[in-house]
Amino acid sequence: MRTRSGARGVGRVVFSSRETLKRKRREPRADTSVSAAPRLFLQSIFSVLFPSDCKICRTPLNNIARLPVCRECLDAITPLRVPQCLICGDRLRSAQLLMGDGLCVNCRECRPDFERAVSFGEYRDGLRTLIHLLKYEAVIPARSPLGRMLAEAISELLPGAGEGKPLLVPVPLHRSRRRSRGFNQAELIARAAFRRLPHKLEFAPGILVRRRETISQVGLSREERIQNMRGAFHVSDRGRVKGRNVIVVDDVMTTGTTLSECARVLRQAGAAKVWAATVARAFHGVELPEFAESREEEEVEAAVGAASARTVLAGDTTPASV
Ligand SMILES: [Zn+2]
Ligand SMILES: [Zn+2]
Repeated sequence: MRTRSGARGVGRVVFSSRETLKRKRREPRADTSVSAAPRLFLQSIFSVLFPSDCKICRTPLNNIARLPVCRECLDAITPLRVPQCLICGDRLRSAQLLMGDGLCVNCRECRPDFERAVSFGEYRDGLRTLIHLLKYEAVIPARSPLGRMLAEAISELLPGAGEGKPLLVPVPLHRSRRRSRGFNQAELIARAAFRRLPHKLEFAPGILVRRRETISQVGLSREERIQNMRGAFHVSDRGRVKGRNVIVVDDVMTTGTTLSECARVLRQAGAAKVWAATVARAFHGVELPEFAESREEEEVEAAVGAASARTVLAGDTTPASV
């Protein structure tokens, strides 16, 4: 598997090297001095007091909306329609299509621990902005359309998920990250999706626990990513998982290493089969602004968070309520 930085010829990061340790040290500390709740409350008030432009196309919105995105931009977010790997969902190039087995190179070499991964749309344009609004600017009402999209992706898996309700398990954040952000975006989206499929799933947040922070996967080789994830998760209630089918959900799937590790741990705890579903899929080889400079996600998050705080202070609209 080519890494994004490798694909561009940028120097590779050697795992466990001094560089990796430096990156670890650069990770921001959880902000335990300021609770996230007052910040979210303030943003919620601003959403009511000040009208806003659409955060995607910048057109002024006619009325005050909890979600500052226009209907046209939401409608423009459409499901994936490209040839995809039957297991991991990565886009298949024409050479791979000729192989005829419907699998990408990576899955042919080494299968992930989930049965199959599905995503609603590609992680770009409006969908990417919508996810960023939720994740980095705490625009909580974005969970609603994102939950609808996740529910559509999950529905694709349900016919093959056998009898009984599969457990719906969001990928957890480490507690320090959750505390500083104020919420786990995967859990919010999963809950919104579950509300649309209440008779077909059993919502099980908290089954999977993240017991340590992981460094950003950006710039790591496939082996390094797997190593980076090892031991990051554990199952808190093995009895509830035993013999059950599970669907692990997240906002974005990039390399699939996180979801595969979640699946491995769940299967080790006795889960029968594990699938993965995300709202968005970042395809290999597609450069994204946050990867272009090989910056870590945490650094992007810090920068966007600072911009968001400035926006709130300037009186712009960023609606939110937990
Ligand atoms: Zn718009
Ligand atoms: Zn694949």
